[in-house]
Amino acid sequence: MHGTCPVCGNTGAYAGETVESRDEDGISLEFQCESFLCEACGLDLEDYEELELASMETSLDRENDVDQWVEEQDYYEDDRW
Ligand SMILES: [Zn+2]
Repeated sequence: MHGTCPVCGNTGAYAGETVESRDEDGISLEFQCESFLCEACGLDLEDYEELELASMETSLDRENDVDQWVEEQDYYEDDRW
């Protein structure tokens, strides 16, 4: 996932994991950020606490990626049941 660097304003990269939740509305995805690295200025936030201190996002909504996610996870096959 990409995010804006709070120091230089360039695009950096979040590392973390995508967490899926399912309810009556379907599947929703949230990316939980664990670290952030900006190659432009070298900013390196190594854990959740550092992200918070820098006022960075610690979770990102991946709503737009749900369709692709579902395809990758092969949910359609499970729905046979
Ligand atoms: Zn930067």
